[in-house]
Amino acid sequence: MTGKPLYLNGKWVSTSDTLSVYDKATGELISDVSTLKRSQVATAISDAHEAYLSWRDRTAKNRGDYLRACADELLRRKKEIASIITKENGKPLAQSLGEVDVSADHLYWYSEEARRAYGRTIPHQMDNKRHLIIKSPIGVVGAISPWNFPLVLAVRKIAPALAAGCTVIIKPASYTPLSVLAFAECVDSSGVPAGVFQVVVGSAKEIGAEFTENHLCRKITFTGSTPVGQDLIRAAAQTVTPLSLELGGHAPVIVFADSNIELAVETVMVAKYRNNSQSCIAANRIFVQDSIYETFLESFVKRTKALKVGNGMDSETDIGPLVDGNAVKNALEQIDDATAKGARLMCGGLRLNDKENFLSPAVIADVPLNASCMKEESFAPIAPVCSFRTEDEVVSWANDSMFGLAAYVCTGDLNRMFRMGESLEAGTIGINDGAPTASHCPFGGTKQSGWGRELGSEGMDAFLETKHISIGAVHL
Ligand code: ADP
Repeated sequence: MTGKPLYLNGKWVSTSDTLSVYDKATGELISDVSTLKRSQVATAISDAHEAYLSWRDRTAKNRGDYLRACADELLRRKKEIASIITKENGKPLAQSLGEVDVSADHLYWYSEEARRAYGRTIPHQMDNKRHLIIKSPIGVVGAISPWNFPLVLAVRKIAPALAAGCTVIIKPASYTPLSVLAFAECVDSSGVPAGVFQVVVGSAKEIGAEFTENHLCRKITFTGSTPVGQDLIRAAAQTVTPLSLELGGHAPVIVFADSNIELAVETVMVAKYRNNSQSCIAANRIFVQDSIYETFLESFVKRTKALKVGNGMDSETDIGPLVDGNAVKNALEQIDDATAKGARLMCGGLRLNDKENFLSPAVIADVPLNASCMKEESFAPIAPVCSFRTEDEVVSWANDSMFGLAAYVCTGDLNRMFRMGESLEAGTIGINDGAPTASHCPFGGTKQSGWGRELGSEGMDAFLETKHISIGAVHL
């Protein structure tokens, strides 16, 4: 028996080695997906290189037309693809529908940005010279995407790379390859030439090794954990392959007494619980100024208790299953560690009896800074809260992390907004905004949260080389 086919060089290819994909809410098998051997990944890279030689020569407008056709098809199949996301990932369906919308928006935005890969001319310093700066696509791109946003984090890599004139091979996470395979059907139906976009599934280590060691793979773009990012950095040293890395986060949220408390609670609800709290920009440490601490806590606990945990396909569900039982185990250990160090568990924190990967959302108050949840990413619906006194104190706490992906601030003071934007060490700072990521604005981390930026014009720059053309012997 062969598995669900992969999309390789314009064809749908099945193999007899497979990996199984399960519904995260019911545990039922959804599909057995074909997997590749390393030699087949090498062939995909050669095919991508062949396709690159003509894709890069098309006009940017033409490449943009294909991206728009992919987005149109994605939206036409929105409901069906959203339910694939919910089943293989677990998030509530309304959020999966949103993920399809945002993915289409990325494609539309980069279909236009393709035309704006501007170069420049630089005034000459010698009479007989002229200088042009042009942007050229970097070549074949190896993309590795995670399971927490199985569609949008893949499209965030694919859209700008294709717009820039690169060809792309993507390896989706083994927990969630089906969303990317559905996207490949949209690419196929839009008529993108063979080899421009391909999907490989198989051993992450082998695919990573092929991407980093194969000289035809000219760029690797990765979203995932910091340890795997570090492995890729080490491996890419052999070929000096450039990397864009979007790694872990440990976002602080700072709620100042001058904020509107209900709006602040709403901001924290979104920043904490969106995507079943399995987001690298999820709120991990919630710092509330002492004079409003109890009032904030009361309202936040009330809102958290009202969240409904269940199957993401049920329209009532606010929080679906976590990716696996281990995710719940880690969260329970973080809660135990915090309470052992003096924190108060205000609500939730219970594994739902018959389902090993469902956890009721937990608010933990008075969490000391040395608790493990204040240092390590939770990736689960647990919300550690503690109070602070002064702005200086809380900024030093917020920045005391090896991560620097996102930070959130709730305040009504305009001066403070600017001060926070400048002093917090994070690539994205949401001020009274719990969902700050957008197609047109750069996204990425400082410190051990990664290298480079996705989205915005920076997101396309990641796939472009800057070339200087120096023209000598000009006779004007
Ligand atoms: P998470 O499980 O938090 O998403 P991972 O870093 O484990 O983070 O996984 C992110 C992606 O990286 C997935 O597609 C996974 O299969 C892939 N991956 C895991 N280990 C490696 C590796 N050694 N080399 C390349 N990719 C890897």
